[in-house]
Amino acid sequence: MNPPAPPPPPGPPGPVPEPGAVPDTGDASAVLRRSGEVLRPALTLYLDLHRHPELSGHESRTARLFAERLAGSGCEVTGDVGGHGVVGVLRNGEGPRVYLRAELDALPLRERTGLPYASGNDAMHACGHDLHLAAASGAVDLLARGTDHWRGTVVVVGQPAEETLTGARAMLRDGLYARFGRPDVVLAQHAAPLPSGMVAHGGGHGPVAAASATLAVVLHGRGGHAATPHLTVDPVVTAAAVITRLQTVVSRETAPAEQVALTVGSVRAGTAANVVPERAELGVGVRAATDEALERAVAAVERIVRAECAASACPREPEVALVSRSPALWGDPWATEAVRRAHTARYGPARVGHWPPSMAAEDFPLFGDRGLSLHGEEGVPLVYWMVGVVGPGEWAGDSSPPPNHSPHFAPHVRTALPSAISALATAALDRLGGPATRPGP
Ligand code: ZN
Ligand code: ZN
Repeated sequence: MNPPAPPPPPGPPGPVPEPGAVPDTGDASAVLRRSGEVLRPALTLYLDLHRHPELSGHESRTARLFAERLAGSGCEVTGDVGGHGVVGVLRNGEGPRVYLRAELDALPLRERTGLPYASGNDAMHACGHDLHLAAASGAVDLLARGTDHWRGTVVVVGQPAEETLTGARAMLRDGLYARFGRPDVVLAQHAAPLPSGMVAHGGGHGPVAAASATLAVVLHGRGGHAATPHLTVDPVVTAAAVITRLQTVVSRETAPAEQVALTVGSVRAGTAANVVPERAELGVGVRAATDEALERAVAAVERIVRAECAASACPREPEVALVSRSPALWGDPWATEAVRRAHTARYGPARVGHWPPSMAAEDFPLFGDRGLSLHGEEGVPLVYWMVGVVGPGEWAGDSSPPPNHSPHFAPHVRTALPSAISALATAALDRLGGPATRPGP
């Protein structure tokens, strides 16, 4: 997820449920009782991935380790799906096809947690994707050990390049659903600054994640000597005008009730104080609560860039390239409510929170098969929830825990991993069919 999630609603601190201490809710309890058996291999995977993070699009080692764990649980594993994507399939008779998605990539950050298993290179799992992978491996391990208690097919997806919002599209374009079957539902969870042992679902008043677009803008000037500015077209001045004018997209062109965020996150131009450069480059990020608002804001960016270049008499048209794009993430209301109920039955209402609408971005909504159409609600149902990663001691402390994408981000793995495994397995069992002896859900 990119960027970090918003500050969490206050959740109740307190003891984290032990992996085996689960209320009796039938088949799910029977499966979850074996959590202790799957924890060690999942933890081993987590520690290894955390120490050896890999950047978006370069996740070969991560993919191999994840594939090995899935194969060890009895999954039929396929690699190199849409880049380094991994797909593990666990078949258990007729029944729903439930996808579990986790991300492979880390961020270009130097870790500053001081943990004994801290990253040894210039990348860092600062978004918790290592936890998601370990939890998915643990959940499928549990499901593989409890095949008497469910029916259907589990498809585990290790997705590359989430942070660049390109990996989901690459896997889908590589025929994910044609090759491994169209899902009845796709489930995903994300590490969040909530107490370990808590989950939080969105829904209702806004998207769980915003629609987002990243634009790469190139402004063409005419370079020359700083002593003869009248013989040049200075792209630095044009860039300054563009940046200033772009601030009106939200303040003057967006209805106050609509949520839109626009950031010029990178500016590059020039090499020396006495040289007027040939070009200037801007990186522009746009986010919005709805796909329609995003569409309008992106169109406004392009219009302003072109108009400012015309005003500056730039010798060439600017380039405005769409680097990445993902729609807003709205979970399927019915499937989300069912999973929320399953989580509530397992953890009690105090441990199942509400996640407010956020401007964070994800490419998970693309698994809903809506593509970039604005009204394609007929797609695959998605369920996405936040899972707490803050240990009891830190939650009780004075300062707020470091958020995702911080070099200090450090999930309390002893409590966060068991609850992430349990939350994913609980949701999967809720969506899979019941055992053959009883009717399905
Ligand atoms: Zn992230
Ligand atoms: Zn993330």
